[in-house]
Order: sequence, then C-alpha cells, then structure tokens
Amino acid sequence: MKKIGLLRDHKKSKIAVLSPDNIKQLKDQASFYVESNSGKHAGFTNENYEAAGAKIVDTRQEVIDIADLLLTYSTILDDEQIHTSKTFIGVYDVLGDFGTLIPFQKEGVNLYSLNLLPRTTIAQSMDVMSSAASILGYKAVLKAASLSTSTIPMITGAGGTLRPAKVLILGAGVAGLQAIATAKRLGAIVRAFDVRAVAKTDVESLGAQFVNIEGATDNSNAGGYAVEQTADYLNKVDQILYDECIQADIIICTARIPGKKAPLLVSEKALHKMKPGAVIVDLATDSGGNCAWSKKGKTIVTDNQITIVGDTNLLAKSSKSASFLLANNFTSFLKHFLKNSENEEDEILRATKILTNGQVTNERILAEIDEI
Ligand code: NAD
Repeated sequence: MKKIGLLRDHKKSKIAVLSPDNIKQLKDQASFYVESNSGKHAGFTNENYEAAGAKIVDTRQEVIDIADLLLTYSTILDDEQIHTSKTFIGVYDVLGDFGTLIPFQKEGVNLYSLNLLPRTTIAQSMDVMSSAASILGYKAVLKAASLSTSTIPMITGAGGTLRPAKVLILGAGVAGLQAIATAKRLGAIVRAFDVRAVAKTDVESLGAQFVNIEGATDNSNAGGYAVEQTADYLNKVDQILYDECIQADIIICTARIPGKKAPLLVSEKALHKMKPGAVIVDLATDSGGNCAWSKKGKTIVTDNQITIVGDTNLLAKSSKSASFLLANNFTSFLKHFLKNSENEEDEILRATKILTNGQVTNERILAEIDEI
C-alpha cells in the first residue's frame, strides 16, 4: 500500500490539500502521514486527522522519510534530506518562475503540478486553478470594498443619497465572474471586459454590462483560454478602457494569458486621471499585472490617492474555504493517480508531470524553457 504524506504549507498559502474526510475516502488505498498542524489554517485539528485514520508526524523531515508520495500546496524544499526517489504533488508556478524547480531537480524527485492540468471533462473535478480563482475573485472585491473610502450600494438617508459605486472588472473568466457576482451582491454598478467574445453572455447573465471591443483574436484551440492580441487591437482597447477606468471607483484586474505576461489594461495615462479614492486590486501581479503601477505583493497609495493592491496571497485569507475546494480537487487527482500511475500515456498525468527523477520531461515546460 502506498504511503502518502501531507506536508504543512508553512510558507504562505496556509492551504491543507487533504481534509480528514478526504482521507477517510482514500484510506483503503493508502496509508496517510500528516505533518503536525497541517490543517491549522483550514479548520482541521491533528485529532480530526487521527480520527480519520491518519498518523500525525512531528516534523517535515520525518514525513518525507516515511512517505512515497508527498502532497503540499506550494511549499518548496529547504534543507530537507531526500534519500530515495520520492514523488511530490502540488501547485507550483513553474511557468512564472523556473527557479522553483531547482531544489526538486537537485534531489532527483518526481514532481507533478496541478496547475498544468488539461481542461478536459475528466480533469474538471481536479481543477485547482478554477477553485483558487473563484475564491480570489470574491476576496478581491471584499478587499477593495474594505479599502475604499466610499460605500458600495446606493444608500439614502437624512443627509441625501449616496450613488452606488462603479466597479470595473477586467477579465471575465473564473475569477472575474466571481468578482462580478460579489460586486453585484454588494449593490455596485458593474461593467466588465474580456477579449473572449463568449464572455459577454456570462457577464450579462450576472446582471453586469459587457464592454464590447470588437476585433479580438479568439482561438478555439486555446482550450477556453485567451490568446495574445494584435498591436492594433490593443491600441483600441487602451483608448476604450481609458474612458472606463477614469469613471470607476473600483477596478478588479483578473486578465491573464497562460504562460505569458498578463495584458496591461490600466494604463499610466488612465491612472493619472482616475478618481481620487479609487481602489484597484490586481490579481495578475504574479505574471506582470494588468495595471501599470501595481507592485507584486504590495499595497501602494499613489500621489493622486489611488490605492493599488498587488497582494499575491489573498487565497490565504480564505484558507478554510480555499482548502475545502482544493482538497477535493487534490483527492480527485490522487484517485486518478493511484489508478493510473503506471500508464505513461495517461493524458492527465503526462500533462501534470514536470520532473522524472529530477529531469524535466514535460513537453510544455521544455518548450517554454527553449523560448527563453
Ligand atoms: P485565465 O485565468 O487564464 O484568464 C482570466 C481571463 O482573462 C480570461 O477570461 C481571459 O479571456 C481574460 N483575458 C486575457 N487577456 C485579456 C485581455 N487582453 N483583456 C481582457 N481580458 C483578457 O482564465 P480562466 O478564468 O481560468 O478561464 C477562462 C475560461 O476558460 C473560463 O471562463 C471558462 O469558460 C473556461 N474554463 C474551462 C474549464 C474546463 O473546461 N475544465 C475550466 C475552467 C475554466
């Protein structure tokens, strides 16, 4: 029987990638070793894991020594000793930073990363990126609302009427749609833009207005993702979004192109003219950001009184809910892994496996490395 270790995500995200309930579902197929306090930020105690049949282990090193298969959200290796071939499964932003791979390559491990899952029907229940994006879209709006010096809904009182806030959502994928739904629930007037024409129906079904900018390159082979746009189209976007940005009280940036730099949508020119007191939350700063002045991991207030949030760790602030969703995704992947790990042709395992005994064997990653 395989020995599976759960490592505490002590670096930053605070996510537990298996819940005690998940372990109950899997305990006939594997034995589980949980690093003490792995569920601390997800609402699970050591006792909960023990009651589910797992063994609590005091240190990371011991978990690594005992288990064949090690699960973690984004923790990387520090000084841990790895004596035999181990397999790690996590969510590693390898496309954003190839340096993430180095400690794993040195140790000669097998590494799988769930952000490389194909968008197929079988992989849908494993889709960690969608789970994280839903939470982030929701959290971004709450963050903006809490930092805004204005209220969001229309409020009528003895002193007069406060107009509802104008919220602009850039990118209407998973995170953007959740941001729209959240801003609508708070009573905002919401407008949204995306280069994928199909997003219009989604945006309108949530009661928001779609900013239509014709002439985008849509690629049906991109698996539902956006592709890079022509310079002419980006110029047109720049002009139209300038008008949209200067009217907005809150802007939530969620636009991304997988493996590429995020598109710049809030220009410097717009930032100079935006309303004082406006708030921008840029969820794309880990791939360059959608806003010209956003800074990865930092919140800044500009001279013209615009607050720009570049927090890359909003997920950790909803670690309990995020862990619930992500742990179910990991469980689906694990079930598939345990059944198919010997099948080298398996589409899901091929797409997610980055390293084999420390060597990069993933075609997508090799192609990206070649491009540098
Ligand atoms: P993502 O995180 O890569 O990008 C976020 C959004 O940014 C996307 O909607 C994209 O179109 C948009 N964007 C990119 N460049 C832009 C630009 N220049 N201007 C404005 N917007 C821009 O994508 P995502 O949110 O993970 O997914 C996108 C879509 O894929 C979803 O809406 C959904 O329809 C689909 N999807 C499919 C599956 C599946 O089949 N299993 C799973 C999740 C999502």
